Amino acid sequence: MGTKGIEIVDLNVGDLLGILNGAFSDEWLAYYQYWIGAKVVKGPMKEAVIAELLQHAGDELRHADMLAMRIIQLGGTPVTKPEEWYKHSGCGYDAPDDPFVKKVLEQNIKGEQCAILTYRKLVDLTAGKDPVTHNIALQILQDEVEHEEDLQELVEDLQTLGL
Ligand code: FE
Ligand code: FE
Ligand code: MG
Repeated sequence: MGTKGIEIVDLNVGDLLGILNGAFSDEWLAYYQYWIGAKVVKGPMKEAVIAELLQHAGDELRHADMLAMRIIQLGGTPVTKPEEWYKHSGCGYDAPDDPFVKKVLEQNIKGEQCAILTYRKLVDLTAGKDPVTHNIALQILQDEVEHEEDLQELVEDLQTLGL
């Protein structure tokens, strides 16, 4: 915790930490949803879908890392208990119990759309108020926008196969 680094944050730091822990919990759940999705997914274009899901899983884990670092910088503690992820999460978790490629992709698209809204809000909230968190939120938002597009392109490719 750096005192000057916190002093320059022109927002209620406690409220901000709550939002950051919500996003941190979302990222862990998103990571697992992709990771387990890549294990169980079945159907046409499976190899391409698995490669994309694993790439996204890695990105979500990196996002969790970025958020944890920022939470600690601001004097907070990242959620330490996995069972509390649900309590803090805004976007939740969709279990890939139906492993069909299109279904798994659609569940993950829904998650990305929620993430896009979450980071869009965080970008707006921190604009001119907390440049460090703003920069992190912007970087993550760029990734989430790319994730949504990657998944929607895979769904379009499946549609050309008549699925
Ligand atoms: Fe993410
Ligand atoms: Fe994502
Ligand atoms: Mg991708």
